[in-house]
Amino acid sequence: MSKIIASAAIRGAHKIARDAAAMLAKAKQQKGADAKVEFPNTGYFIPIIYGMLGHEVRTLADFDPVMKRCQELLPPVPDEHIWLPYLGNTLDAGMATLFAEEIIEACKYLIGPNPVDGLWLGAADDVIMRERGIEFVDGSAPGFAAIVGAAPTNEIAVKIARELQQKSLYVFMAGHTNGKTFAEQLAEEGVQMGWETRLVPFGKEITAAIYALGFATRAALSFGGCQAGDFERVLRYNKNRIFAFVIALGEVDDEKYATAAGAINYGFPTIADTAIPQILPTGICTYEHVVSSVPHEQIVAKAIEVRGLKIKITQIPIPVPYSPAFEGERIRKEDMFCEFGGNRSDALEWVSMKDMSQVEDGKIEVIGPDVEEIQEGTAVPLGVVVEVAGRKMQPDFEPILERHVHTFINAAQGLFHMGQRDIIWVRISKEARKAGLKMRHFGDIIHAKMHDDYSAIVDKVQVRIYTKKEDVTRLRETARKVFRERDDRLAGMTDESVETFYSCTLCQSFAPNHVCVITPERPGLCGAYNWLDGRAAYEITPSGPNQPIEKGNAIDPRLGQWDKINEFVYTKTNRSIERFSAYSMVVDPMTSCGCFECISAMLPSTNGIMIVDRDFADMTPCGMKFSTLAGSVGGGNQTPGFVGHSRRYIVSRKFISADGGMARVVWMPKKLKEALRQEIETRAKEMNLESFVDKIADETVATTEEQVAEYAGKVGHPALTMDPMF
Ligand code: SF4
Repeated sequence: MSKIIASAAIRGAHKIARDAAAMLAKAKQQKGADAKVEFPNTGYFIPIIYGMLGHEVRTLADFDPVMKRCQELLPPVPDEHIWLPYLGNTLDAGMATLFAEEIIEACKYLIGPNPVDGLWLGAADDVIMRERGIEFVDGSAPGFAAIVGAAPTNEIAVKIARELQQKSLYVFMAGHTNGKTFAEQLAEEGVQMGWETRLVPFGKEITAAIYALGFATRAALSFGGCQAGDFERVLRYNKNRIFAFVIALGEVDDEKYATAAGAINYGFPTIADTAIPQILPTGICTYEHVVSSVPHEQIVAKAIEVRGLKIKITQIPIPVPYSPAFEGERIRKEDMFCEFGGNRSDALEWVSMKDMSQVEDGKIEVIGPDVEEIQEGTAVPLGVVVEVAGRKMQPDFEPILERHVHTFINAAQGLFHMGQRDIIWVRISKEARKAGLKMRHFGDIIHAKMHDDYSAIVDKVQVRIYTKKEDVTRLRETARKVFRERDDRLAGMTDESVETFYSCTLCQSFAPNHVCVITPERPGLCGAYNWLDGRAAYEITPSGPNQPIEKGNAIDPRLGQWDKINEFVYTKTNRSIERFSAYSMVVDPMTSCGCFECISAMLPSTNGIMIVDRDFADMTPCGMKFSTLAGSVGGGNQTPGFVGHSRRYIVSRKFISADGGMARVVWMPKKLKEALRQEIETRAKEMNLESFVDKIADETVATTEEQVAEYAGKVGHPALTMDPMF
């Protein structure tokens, strides 16, 4: 701990203790030692003293043992030349300061100046405590900022206050800088104050800060079930449940240091705008204890970050209703105002992790035409770039957050979302357009929901929305590299090397009987979740849609059937699917939702299969376009002979391995084949398949099943000599 801070806090504590002793003596002299003393209308006696010591102060004489305890707690001021560990001493000095400050404020109620005067509200009574304290418990008030001192200008004061109000935080004000207080600055600017506006001016002197800490103590006693005198539980409750911090504006004198040391006991850090020494190691507070020289425009964000406060957005600011009830809503072409992706334009969404300093929470930018500039009925490019930062965020969590953009957007009435990564398909309905929906509302939804659902890992979220083709094309190239890197993380892992697979039921809003079983060698069929992602998602949300499933005993290792997996699938598919094969599209194949990147379909006359991906919009050799095929295969059905899957799965060793594996592939769109050429060649080599890639027909050589069979015969495709699939 900084010796400068420790010395100042301990010096300040001694001074305040002397002031308290003098004030107490004066009060006794004027009113007598038996004079009744209280903070009006509270049942908590003098709350910090009561909460920490369990000591009931009813008369001035009852302060005597408290003064004695202050003296015991007060350490000597550190010697100029001797360096010691100071933290414990400083915390004790801080606690002694709070006791002494309570004595001073309590005496003021008896002999003046009255703490309740004009602007100043003094101690909160029990009615306020009940009404407001509960907000800290139910989360409607995420915490409070204790502002000490004054801002350099009234304008800055108003800006800070407004920013804190916007975050639903209470603002408790005490102390001045050269005679000026933050509350007076707000009053001069006509800002309405009082408990109802959450701007609470407690008192002009620093001693009035005890009303804020007394409030926190009472919250622990009334809502936290803590017993008076059990100081450890009271302090721990505050550290864990009351997200408060001190914002110190202007010069920090010894008394303010002493009071801040008292607040640190509660786990409340101090964030200062001046260049005071910092205390950065964590310990009593969740993160840093004192952070200084923070610019005013960043001070609220910094305080929130340092306190580890999680912001909840209770109402998403969008003009259409928002509820999980709308998740399964489809928008038909005739009800559609415009669309993005879905093969009609380029579209992608990409979540990436950044440093705290690179993300401005709540910043939403729209780059390109907005809804009112889009022509009805058209398809427009879309790039949704979400940047998140958080103390507990990890790059491994990016895909999980990214995949949830799907559910976030779908819950808005009039918005439809399908797919992930660079194969999304989004529609805005005419109704939503009429209601005033704009592109920035995508950002509002994502920002609010990321905070709401992922506050454990996400502290800041900013969103950029691109609707110009050149931007989206450029972004897509960069994002694709990242997607590939994410997929490559699994290299070397096999299904046999793990005992646990992961489920994903995220798509049950569209396909109630669908479960993806994600194995190291078989990603979720949307391609967005691999086994590591499933594990990370479970780590973030243990009760979420990604659950670990123990394999149990193998029923048929060739098909990829295990007893516990089957039990799980049966339960999670509403008892509609009894058996599931991880490695077959013929015997008990996995269900398909609607988000698959590709569909494999048998072409009986070739003894092989064709694979078509979302990007291919033309007719395929099985006589159906991708969209028609998706309609019959998707929806949570198990359709032997057909299966939805990811692109990565095609080059997995477990790709329909029970049915003959990759050697069955007789047709693919050229673009997909070329994109996977290298990986197909590697896999073909492992399977001793010669010149295999070029034996796979594409649309340039075959568009019907007959033409595929003819081509297969011409090139000597291995599928022709394999056992029949059925
Ligand atoms: S396709 Fe499967 S893995 Fe992907 S989100 Fe849907 S259920 Fe999860």
